[in-house]
Amino acid sequence: GAGRFAFLALVAAGGLGMGARPRDEPPRIELRRAWPVMGTLLAISVWGDPRDSVSMLAAIHASRDSVRLVDSLMSNYRRSSEISRVNDAAGDSAVHVSSQTMNVLRQARLLWRLSGGAFDPTVGPFVHAWGFDGGAARIPPSRELDSLRALVAFGDVELDTVASTVRLPRRGMSLDLGGIAKGYALDLARAALARPEIHAGMIDLGGNILVFGAAPGGGRWRLGIVHPRRNRAVLGIVELDSGAIATSGDYERFHIIGGRRYAHIIDPRSGRPARGTIAATAIGPRGVWSDGLSATLYLVGASRAMTLADSLPGIAGLVVPASDAGMIRVRLSRRAARIFVAAEGVRVARPRESR
Ligand code: ADP
Ligand code: MG
Repeated sequence: GAGRFAFLALVAAGGLGMGARPRDEPPRIELRRAWPVMGTLLAISVWGDPRDSVSMLAAIHASRDSVRLVDSLMSNYRRSSEISRVNDAAGDSAVHVSSQTMNVLRQARLLWRLSGGAFDPTVGPFVHAWGFDGGAARIPPSRELDSLRALVAFGDVELDTVASTVRLPRRGMSLDLGGIAKGYALDLARAALARPEIHAGMIDLGGNILVFGAAPGGGRWRLGIVHPRRNRAVLGIVELDSGAIATSGDYERFHIIGGRRYAHIIDPRSGRPARGTIAATAIGPRGVWSDGLSATLYLVGASRAMTLADSLPGIAGLVVPASDAGMIRVRLSRRAARIFVAAEGVRVARPRESR
């Protein structure tokens, strides 16, 4: 989202800089750099021996470059990106794409299947109709949405994984990887930091966060999930050894028209912003899945979201369902119940097994 800032912040890294270091442990420093990229802020922190700071910094730059690469390949805002070229050729020819873009499209196809079509990267025409791609905020008339519906069909996208080509069969179709590309970028950025001199790292790409290695101060990483309705408050803390976390919420990017909130995640069946969810968080080993799943859990609603999260190895899911009373209550999947600590006053619905 353009102009959005990290909405998921590191709240506390257990006793950062405090307490005595075990005597045989090497000294550690944190190096941190940040840049604007992919319409948001990329912040990379690594921890290691101060004597390795030159190569640590080189790794940070390589990590940043991999995020820039994903942006250059998959952005809808760059005319020259591979995704823009695929979209320009809709109804016409197949376009050759990089292994990275094909990889994301294959992961997207898995999510599309798993979600029964709720996660659908061909929502581009609907996103555009609502002005969520930077255009003017508007409520498209039903007739217009009806006429676009035939263009939203990821199942019709021709992915040739052998030739590495993509073809959109109908003019007007378009791909929008906004729900998954940032998470994939995190995975590439993580790979660029895989060097022995880097003992730990945290990559934050607009609130999609990936952590690895020993958390500063020892113990687990503690990541706060922002409260969807209260400013500067957290819903709770997630404790992780490593992994990626992503949140999709109706407070991230939305229009208010006639006093009603219209958020940027669209139900491909209705062509309208999905209702029923305030926020959804997905946590797992890989950025690409956490990112894609956060939108997916948001779309399918709390009950199906819990079933889906519990069916996937290594995945934790949290959903805040919309309620008429305006009540905030967090539903937790089984794995989430083990790693989430609710903030004071936040109501939690735990899975039946762990009650
Ligand atoms: P962000 O972190 O940029 O707010 P999310 O991970 O929450 O993004 O995903 C929202 C984005 O996903 C939208 O901006 C749009 O580009 C895309 N999107 C919207 N609806 C869908 C959908 N049904 N399936 C897949 N992607 C979608
Ligand atoms: Mg996401």
